Amino acid sequence: MAVEIPRLPHTLPLPLKDDVLLELVDKTKDWALMHGAAMRSKANFSKDSLNFAPFVLVPSAFPRKEFYKAVQLQQILNELMHRVAHNREFLTKSLKETIQVDEFTGNLFKIYETVQDEGVSQPISLGLLRSDTMLETTCPSPGKNCPPSALYCCWKQVEINTIASGFGWLGPASALIQRFVLQELNHHEMLVNLPDNNALEGLCSGMLEAWKIYGDSKAAILFIIEDVTYNICDQRFHEFELRRLNPYVKVIRRTLTDMAQRAKLGPDNELLIDGYAVSVVYFRAGYEPGHYHSQKEWDARLLIERSQAIKSPSIHYHLAGTKKVQQALARPGAIEMFLGEASKIEAVKEIFTGLYSLDFDEFGDQAIQMALDAPERFVLKPQREGGGNNIYGKEIRDAILKMKDSRERTAWILMERINPPLSTGYIVRPGGPDIPELVDLVSELGIFGVIIGDSTKIYSNRQVGHMLRTKVSTANEGGVAAGLGALDSPYLI
Ligand code: ADP
Ligand code: MG
Ligand code: MG
Repeated sequence: MAVEIPRLPHTLPLPLKDDVLLELVDKTKDWALMHGAAMRSKANFSKDSLNFAPFVLVPSAFPRKEFYKAVQLQQILNELMHRVAHNREFLTKSLKETIQVDEFTGNLFKIYETVQDEGVSQPISLGLLRSDTMLETTCPSPGKNCPPSALYCCWKQVEINTIASGFGWLGPASALIQRFVLQELNHHEMLVNLPDNNALEGLCSGMLEAWKIYGDSKAAILFIIEDVTYNICDQRFHEFELRRLNPYVKVIRRTLTDMAQRAKLGPDNELLIDGYAVSVVYFRAGYEPGHYHSQKEWDARLLIERSQAIKSPSIHYHLAGTKKVQQALARPGAIEMFLGEASKIEAVKEIFTGLYSLDFDEFGDQAIQMALDAPERFVLKPQREGGGNNIYGKEIRDAILKMKDSRERTAWILMERINPPLSTGYIVRPGGPDIPELVDLVSELGIFGVIIGDSTKIYSNRQVGHMLRTKVSTANEGGVAAGLGALDSPYLI
């Protein structure tokens, strides 16, 4: 029997009339473009033009209580990740098997060991994190938090990103688009339910704080970028926001290849490139193998890591954000090693869903059996970022059968699939129809955190904003830059 998926209420009566939609969509596309809610086109790439980023016309409903719970948990998650990143034993143990078969993670780990053994020249790290979550409708253990009639039981963490946590601009921009739409529709009274979102300012003030700690007023903030940047508005708005917050700080953008060719270390391990000393390195690239064309880019990553610049992320933060470490944290007793207070431990555990290793042991064998028995219950994940790498549904079985007897399986983790409630709405895409269709949607909420500290002390720790990405309910993944998802913002109910 097909199980009916719970549905969140409409935020306003839908469908809209065709003539209303036609005019509204046309106008809002222009609004989005003219306010920088845009990207470069992958199909027709040109540095001289932009497409608006796909967006959801009317904001999707999001339960207020769960939203604020997610917001409030962020500082604890920041602290957790900070402590995990600084625990060499835990990182080493968690990644031991994986780094032997996954070359990419292995290369990151080599850099980590090298700088740890040499002694790090910059003990302070800047964490610009984003914890991604989805509401869960199927509750494995209904109880006090989850009445049987509820639309959802709680939210669950999909992952936490420690590198290139994007949408600091496009997150807030989504709410601006939808504010415009609600006003056009004469629903001014609804605006109070769109929560404030200062993610861009929050993330950039984190970078400026790190710049100040570094203590050289002439030193630049360096963005490490891909060879081709599609998500250019999100990145540039960070740069422009830094300029707005402190007109005297210089921002430069370089690829890892540029770094390989021209960067060097000064006498005190200062990071130097093209006549600039660098105070803070903000990685918007370097999280996937394709960003390292040759050993030279890896050497550049090591050079950066050896430098005195404050890195976001430093290599240990990058490793702490791997799926394998996420899975290791879900093991019984793991969180307790990092967070002292019982209330914090409990709060974090509540958002974890089942995560299983595929190591060559009894637990790994059990996980493999579970996946073969009911593949639709899981997502199979490699150690990759940026979307488009996971395996779903029936393909999990094929993948597992193929890797089950090889060591490759230790590079993957198995995760319970989260089943979010549906909402209904319009996705507006470049090149899409003038009158979009009403479709079933599901959303993923990301909460941004900033944390600055070293192995002994945390200097700053805050939650700074959010982003909501929404996709059609039938799509497995919802990356906006990847073309599957759309900008959205939570309408609190
Ligand atoms: P990445 O680091 O590549 O973003 P994610 O773990 O976030 O990897 O997975 C990518 C996307 O896959 C998510 O944005 C989400 O849409 C989907 N996804 C991942 N894990 C789950 C899960 N457990 N249940 C449902 N969907 C998931
Ligand atoms: Mg990720
Ligand atoms: Mg993700």
